[in-house]
Amino acid sequence: MSRLLVPVGSCSEAFELAPVLRACRDEGWHVDCAWFGDAAGLRDAAELGLPPVARHGTPPPATSPALRYAAAAAFAADLLEPTPPTVVLTCGHGTMARAAGAVFHQEGVPVLRANAGQRAHDASHDERRRATADHAAAHWCVGSDLQRLELLREGLPAARIHDTGSLLPRALAALPPPAPVPPFVWLALEHAAAQADADTLKSLLANLADLARRHGLPVHAAAPGLAPALERLGLSLPAGFTLTSNLTARGQLDAARRARLIVTDSAGYQELAAVTGVPCLLAAHATARPETVRAGGSSLVGPGGAGLAAALPDALQRPRAASPYEDGTLPLVRVLAALREPATGQPIAPPAAAALPNDGDHTGRTLGDDEVALAAVAIRSGTLNSTRGRFVTEFERRFAQWLGRRHAIACNSGSMAVHAAIAALGLRAGDEVITTPITDMGALTPILYEGGVPVFADVDPRTLNVTAATIAAQLTDRTRAIVVTHLFGLPCDLAPILALAEARGLPVIEDAAQAFGATIGPRKVGTFGAMAAFSLQQGKHITCGEGGIVATDDDALARRLFLFVNKAWGYGDAKPDHTFPALNGRLGEVAGAVALAQLPKLDRVVRRRREVAAALAQQLAAVPGLTLPGDPAYGTHSWWKFPFFVDARRLDGGAPALGRRMQQAGVHCVPRYIQKPAFECALFQHWQSSPVTALPLQHNPRGAGPQPPFARAQYPGAVRALDEVVVLPINERYRPDDVAHVAAVIAAAARDLDRG
Ligand SMILES: *Cc1c(COP(=O)(O)O)cnc(C)c1O
Repeated sequence: MSRLLVPVGSCSEAFELAPVLRACRDEGWHVDCAWFGDAAGLRDAAELGLPPVARHGTPPPATSPALRYAAAAAFAADLLEPTPPTVVLTCGHGTMARAAGAVFHQEGVPVLRANAGQRAHDASHDERRRATADHAAAHWCVGSDLQRLELLREGLPAARIHDTGSLLPRALAALPPPAPVPPFVWLALEHAAAQADADTLKSLLANLADLARRHGLPVHAAAPGLAPALERLGLSLPAGFTLTSNLTARGQLDAARRARLIVTDSAGYQELAAVTGVPCLLAAHATARPETVRAGGSSLVGPGGAGLAAALPDALQRPRAASPYEDGTLPLVRVLAALREPATGQPIAPPAAAALPNDGDHTGRTLGDDEVALAAVAIRSGTLNSTRGRFVTEFERRFAQWLGRRHAIACNSGSMAVHAAIAALGLRAGDEVITTPITDMGALTPILYEGGVPVFADVDPRTLNVTAATIAAQLTDRTRAIVVTHLFGLPCDLAPILALAEARGLPVIEDAAQAFGATIGPRKVGTFGAMAAFSLQQGKHITCGEGGIVATDDDALARRLFLFVNKAWGYGDAKPDHTFPALNGRLGEVAGAVALAQLPKLDRVVRRRREVAAALAQQLAAVPGLTLPGDPAYGTHSWWKFPFFVDARRLDGGAPALGRRMQQAGVHCVPRYIQKPAFECALFQHWQSSPVTALPLQHNPRGAGPQPPFARAQYPGAVRALDEVVVLPINERYRPDDVAHVAAVIAAAARDLDRG
């Protein structure tokens, strides 16, 4: 069934959308409402017709707009689970609408923005929000042809701007008629709290009080906008005014419907006045909605209400103006229906190579408005270093929580995270650390810098991971620790490795830089070893450009990890000193803010990658000569990349030939991954030439021989793995047609090379 997700963040959105949602339900949509706001607001919204909500997010109490926005964005990201909706409907440009638009639009879910024509009242502020909301939508519904023109002028594509009409006529018709009451003026200043200055507001209130008295009209003022403004500016209400602080959203609506005259600074009230035929005067920095003026329903009286003397009597005598708006409810439902059934008959062109989502830029990343918003808060705070800021600390806290470990220490790269973990071991010159020959160099050089000798254990040629057997083969009485790397997101078979390490009293460090969210049994990788390192570099599951984080449950290790990335300055010590050689590896606040915004997206990134990998494996299953990766028996893969193996006996030329054909067809891939086992890199071959590489080996018997200490003949698993592997990048943004395209290219390349 098609699922329509409707994130709602205010009572006016709820009111206007309610008839649309009823009509959609009648059309067979599964309508899923989500509410972002407090419980009292939700009760008001329900009174205005909002159907029961499936999910409810609560904004943080009294906080900055940016943090409120970030909370809304995190809530919106949760709404992507368990499966994204068919279409998202937002209304207006409030916080929730903008955040949901940004999240879903980026995920490729069509976002339809109702009330996209609402013009704002303060150009420096609301206009920017409206533009953001416009940007994060695929379709825009406006109330009039004039509004459509404005969107066209702003460059939005004509085919996706729909002049549907106003949502208010039907929403108002659904309410029982208001009981008649003696005539009064309804004063609704929605932007006064944020914008008005004392003189302007005072003058408006005085002018209005004077004129209303002369016409025998009491003034009822909507409290939500006005009361905070009065308080802020130290003003009081003139005689003859009543502040209606006890009204629900429904009560305010009824007041506006019953009023003899509306005085406002709000776009919403202009539309309401136009639809209900109540004359409307625009004061206090309002800008007019042209169609309501053209229809004769509203006039401008200027910020301080100087023009009231002429306009008020005129408005009271004016015959009720006809509404300039058509009923937009059903036209909007028709636009939604068209989105549910995309035009058929047009074949989907296979995407060009450049169209594959790429983790080197926005197409393959989940970076968006959430990251921008938090980074902006960090920058505006003026505190960009993490020793005093709060974003890095908050990211550490939440990452530890996500992972399920007691401590997490952020740093400026994955290499630094590994380095901190190695440094925390407290090696002596010549101590051995067992690791893998197929990994990132950033995981190896830290061992040398800390005076240790990297000792390479071979890998299983089908998992590319070290095993208990290959590690056991390298143990000596100089072995001090074991680094296990969950390569490409495939967890190592840890149980026997941990048993081996425990028997020898050796700490295990997990390099989980490629394996966020992979699991062994019920637990995430990164929770098994004494310490675990992750990378936040551009191409990893989540990113802040460059960054890393290292986790542990051990308080003493956590202290050493912290000290290592803080020049070993003993913050908090009675007599602080620099206690051992260490670096400044701190992450900065701007990057920390980005990482914090990325974190809520991580689970979904992993889930999406698992879907993409499963689809790829399924579509490649019948291709001859390939061995495909998958989940191990003991856990789940988290798919940093999709590495598969090519049998050169079946496919002529093996992995290099297949990879070349894929590249020629525009599908990026890397045959041989790191090309050669790490110990064949120059730094290990010419180890005497640098003090960093020479020092540990001078203290270790492996340095005594004339040859480099490690040679390919001892590593049949690694040699074979590199010969046969093709590493295919995938990411969370791959859509079904991307997967189909990649699978088709691989299948075609294999067909060409098949020896039969
Ligand atoms: C990326 C990576 C690192 C290093 O991380 P950087 O952030 O690039 O320094 C370490 N180990 C592995 C396995 C990696 O993939």
